[in-house]
Amino acid sequence: MLMRKERSEIVRFGNRMLAAGLTTGTGGNLSIVSREQGLIAISPSGIEYAGMEPADVPLVDGDGARVDGERKPSSELDFHLALYRKRPDVRAVVHTHSVYATTMACLNWEIPAVHYLVAFSGLKVPLAPYATFGTPELAANVAGTIGNCNAVLLANHGLVTVGPDLAAAFNVAEEIELVARIYYQAKCIGDPVILPDDEMERVVEKFAVYGRKGRA
Ligand code: 13P
Ligand code: ZN
Repeated sequence: MLMRKERSEIVRFGNRMLAAGLTTGTGGNLSIVSREQGLIAISPSGIEYAGMEPADVPLVDGDGARVDGERKPSSELDFHLALYRKRPDVRAVVHTHSVYATTMACLNWEIPAVHYLVAFSGLKVPLAPYATFGTPELAANVAGTIGNCNAVLLANHGLVTVGPDLAAAFNVAEEIELVARIYYQAKCIGDPVILPDDEMERVVEKFAVYGRKGRA
């Protein structure tokens, strides 16, 4: 099977997304690009993650044409493709409807540097303007907003994260959901203090080597 490993990863992380409470039902989607083969493995549209098999994960080319698999690719294929075009460093995309991040998105708020963990995205999590799900307009808004961040909120919809692999993009989604929850709670009882950009730049630099063997 073409790209068996990547297709299995989509199934594994789709189930993790559900188990971690980052989405419900058939919400959200995930993809991995093989830039070498010019192929993208993307979760099928409207299919439950539980019971999904690698063969249910369609493969498309860089223009979105289906190359393998019977299932229809995610309705958000356009923004996955737009992100791979825009950001050569990105090899995986995750989209969730996680509750706290989506709460911010429904207020049409960005997530500022309320906690240093926002560095999983960058200096902040920007907000892409609203457009109907599954449209080229939404894809243009997402690609036009993300800049060099690893996360972007979709107004009145959810969260999109990117990374050099699926585990990294998934990790960003989990951490940004935590920060969104902290921001919500802090807002409930007071006026959260926002870290300045120069401090966040320091944190982003430290994150580049954090967890690497033998590095301080
Ligand atoms: P798909 O099932 O087509 O991926 O759609 C889910 C979703 O979250 C749309 O934004
Ligand atoms: Zn969605």
